[in-house]
Amino acid sequence: MDCLFCKIVEGKIPAKKIHEDDQVVAFHDINPQAPVHFLVIPKKHIATLAELTEADNALVGHMVFTAQRLARELGCEAGFRTVFNCNEQGGQTVYHIHLHVLGQRQMTWPPG
Ligand code: 5GP
Repeated sequence: MDCLFCKIVEGKIPAKKIHEDDQVVAFHDINPQAPVHFLVIPKKHIATLAELTEADNALVGHMVFTAQRLARELGCEAGFRTVFNCNEQGGQTVYHIHLHVLGQRQMTWPPG
């Protein structure tokens, strides 16, 4: 399987990692859209959010908890945005699920 984020998990492609544990890795986005922009990914390969099963509930909960903890550590006490893009119309470009966390600027709605 040729997956960019699996290669980051395996250390075959460098990334500015912020956190790693047995289930997830978090690293800074290569093309940040806010002063703070990092991604939380599962080590397990799941291509899209549409492929989640109930067995993944705890893993996704751990991704969200990791996101809020790291957002606080990176100075986003005033607020932050989390985004999962899903499939082509959702704007997904890397097919290994990832939770975007963006902060330290004012967000607007609706997103593009
Ligand atoms: P998506 O559009 O799939 O929701 O988001 C993919 C994200 O991955 C984008 O924000 C993009 O900048 C980021 N990205 C793509 N390739 C790399 C990479 O090699 N390293 C890092 N750190 N981020 C990447």
